[in-house]
Amino acid sequence: MENSVFQNLIHAYHENKLAHAFLLETNDKEKCYHNILEFLKRINCPTTYQDGCKECNLCHLIDTQSLPSIITIYPDGQNIRKEQILDLKKAFQTKPTFSKYNVYIIMGAEFLNSASANTMLKFLEEPEDAILGFFLTNNKENVIETIKSRCQVLLDYYQEPAFIVSDELKEQAISYLQEVLFVKDEALLYNKDVLVSFLKERKDVILFFQVLLDIYQNYYLASYQKVAIKEEYRDLQVLLKKGPEYLLKQLNLVAQIIDELNYNLNISLVLDRFVLESW
Ligand SMILES: [Zn+2]
Repeated sequence: MENSVFQNLIHAYHENKLAHAFLLETNDKEKCYHNILEFLKRINCPTTYQDGCKECNLCHLIDTQSLPSIITIYPDGQNIRKEQILDLKKAFQTKPTFSKYNVYIIMGAEFLNSASANTMLKFLEEPEDAILGFFLTNNKENVIETIKSRCQVLLDYYQEPAFIVSDELKEQAISYLQEVLFVKDEALLYNKDVLVSFLKERKDVILFFQVLLDIYQNYYLASYQKVAIKEEYRDLQVLLKKGPEYLLKQLNLVAQIIDELNYNLNISLVLDRFVLESW
């Protein structure tokens, strides 16, 4: 396994020093998830493990996510609900039969609200030897303190140029939103040409919307469960006054736009839709 984060985990495992819960901040949840499964295969595989073991039944079950002792939890709508954690607790009352640990993987730790996070505390405060937890997030600052303070925090970043947002683009996204929020001459802003003027390539367009997504997500979570606003986004405080409903609507719209851009729809049409539905 090349990934150094997981190499360290394997090392810790062999040293018998593995923590029982990890908060993984990553720019690619899918890759990170894949590496967690590889890690679990590596520590569980009964044969001599090789990358991509297809030989044994256990690795196969892990690959196909059909091992009952590994449970992945996704947000249900805008939250991970308390009931989902209660179900997890119930499932983990029995010790794992085939694998070394009962493992839960939370896809989007920022979606744990105080009710579900408090329900998690049993796992986090009374760590049982046979339970391992992974909390994935794209920004640990958005994760509720109850969880963050009880996990070992790891940064799992993948170098893909397509995912690296330049400071310049970040500033452009911020000043675009500032203009939209402060400038009264809306006619100008309805015009997608404003966007097109600095977004030359599809890649830039997608990155620009990823910044918007991050901003709206940060403000939504701030208005909703009081997470801190990132330093770099503080000039947009006026967004807080718009309230969680507005922010959630914008968040969903931007997520849809990114999807459409990834599906190669015509950029110009997608931008038209964005400016039309946005304001
Ligand atoms: Zn195997």
